[in-house]
Amino acid sequence: GSDRVIEQNLLQGAPVMKARLSANENPFGPSRAAKKALMDAMETSYQYPFMKSRELIGKIAEFEGVKQSNILMDAGSSPLLHAAAMYYGKNGAEIITGDPSYNDLPSTAAELGSKVIKVPLTADYKLDLDAMEAKVGPNTGLVYICNPNNPTATIVDTNKLKGFCERVSKKAVVFVDEAYIDYLPDPQASSMMNAVKAGQNIIVARTFSKLYGFAGLRCGYIVAQPEVVKILSSYATGMMSLSATTVAAAAAAYQEKEFLQDALKKTMASKEFLYSVLKKEGYTYIPSSANFVMFPINMDGAKFSQEMNNRGVSIRNWKFNNKDWCRVSIGRMDEMQAFADAFKQLS
Ligand code: PLP
Repeated sequence: GSDRVIEQNLLQGAPVMKARLSANENPFGPSRAAKKALMDAMETSYQYPFMKSRELIGKIAEFEGVKQSNILMDAGSSPLLHAAAMYYGKNGAEIITGDPSYNDLPSTAAELGSKVIKVPLTADYKLDLDAMEAKVGPNTGLVYICNPNNPTATIVDTNKLKGFCERVSKKAVVFVDEAYIDYLPDPQASSMMNAVKAGQNIIVARTFSKLYGFAGLRCGYIVAQPEVVKILSSYATGMMSLSATTVAAAAAAYQEKEFLQDALKKTMASKEFLYSVLKKEGYTYIPSSANFVMFPINMDGAKFSQEMNNRGVSIRNWKFNNKDWCRVSIGRMDEMQAFADAFKQLS
């Protein structure tokens, strides 16, 4: 999966790492309240995490207007993506996904024998919902929709996705990965949570790893029909793998408006700076709805990554549409400055 690629990218090392812009993390988190809750939870960390996990699930259920039985938590959303890959990809079922999109669920399913159908993005680098729907057939097990999409940071039209979910979920489960939804101006308006509430066969995945800054703490969840939650709970790693300290921190941080808005503001400022650097150097980019930006480069991608790495800046490279691309995560301003300094030497 993708984690292994990230590992490879960080492996090469550099004299001094100045900017870690390869894994779409949020260096403005976790919040002060989250860190305090985590430290306080040390006192009772000899206890299994069930009580605290129930409390967090209760908070999420209340905010989203769903039942606790709709929610399955795990140590990040990755184990839940894997669980869905295992269950819905069984017996060689087809998994439909965008290309490029976040490859973890499809690649896990492929390793277990599924057939993965990759549907190229539209000309404006969005998931091609029409083309994806056209691929749905009797052997389709799951359709993976990453919105906003990683690595392009594009979003699909909300109403179009709603219609897609309503129709396609009658034939196969639709897995909507909303890892980056918190970066949108109105996350709830763009979410497919209402489709779950309407009883459709939709799985919405969320994570604390991105805007909450919990990538290293590990906490994520899915919201789905209770029978789906029940089935996937035997494929996921389960409540035993959640750390009580992390869960306490997540409960403290959940929907903490002031922190989230501040992190968003800082992300936007760094993103604007990055845009201005790219424009100044004569580069185009895909307008971003998340905490990373994709842009085409004029150099072999692997060489570009290595050269940036040699200058203390980690990024990721892609190849699609016969072009080499760089995906740069949005970091602190000093990291974006380090990116700019290194990039100017190569552009
Ligand atoms: N989904 C998407 C689209 C991602 O980009 C990532 C991580 O980068 C994940 C899921 C997995 O994140 P986590 O396991 O930290 O929740």
